[in-house]
Amino acid sequence: LFVEAPLQTGAKVALDRGQANYLLNVLRLKDEDSVLIFNGRDGEWRAEVSVEGRKAADLVCVERIREQGTPYDIIYAFAPLKHARLDYMVQKAVEMGAGVLQPVLTQRTQSSRVNLDRMRSNAIEAAEQCGILSIPEVREEENLERFLKGLEEDRLVVFCDENAPVSNPVDALAKLGNKHSRLVVIVGPEGGFTDQERALVAAHERCVCVSLGPRILRADTAAVAALAIVQSVLGD
Ligand code: SAM
Repeated sequence: LFVEAPLQTGAKVALDRGQANYLLNVLRLKDEDSVLIFNGRDGEWRAEVSVEGRKAADLVCVERIREQGTPYDIIYAFAPLKHARLDYMVQKAVEMGAGVLQPVLTQRTQSSRVNLDRMRSNAIEAAEQCGILSIPEVREEENLERFLKGLEEDRLVVFCDENAPVSNPVDALAKLGNKHSRLVVIVGPEGGFTDQERALVAAHERCVCVSLGPRILRADTAAVAALAIVQSVLGD
């Protein structure tokens, strides 16, 4: 369970109504039952429930179960999609280990207004579900050109492009990167990138244009495929 409060032995963590309701009425936990909690900074803790009423409860931190650790530095940059598809893409990108979610606005981006709060709550839910202790950072939308300009020179850019010649992306990544190289994975909008944008991305110091196969994938599918390949070659 994700909580905002600092975590240390004996610390009391107040739950909001939704969390208390979930623990008491959905999971039917009782006084002194254990729950695992994290706040994105202090690792994972076992805490005990302290019931304060039918719909209110606190948690008391008992012991740290896992250290926070340093997450693998992957920025997932993507042209925002609409509603349910964006929810899905955010959840899957977090499950696949993205540490930063960066919406980028491209010439063919159809949905330029991004609900960052919704992205954040989807990211938290995904982290809770798969036991990731660091909540991915959700950044404000950025124009593609400005985003590329702001990247560190040594960051490996994995540019997913359905127009790239079909070849083995594993070989290309293994040649350029090392285990845990800092990288950014870029996936485009429903209408794909323009040639001008392709040239812009390809001009980055360390760019590898990656084909995900001969089929044009939906952008949300491309996210999962690209991050799975990256993790298999450069990740844990
Ligand atoms: N029209 C579909 C949609 O609504 O999602 C497909 C869009 S596809 C053009 C979106 C993005 O997914 C592309 O810009 C590219 O980044 C990535 N992509 C899709 N298929 C790919 C492939 N075979 N190889 C590499 N990238 C791909």
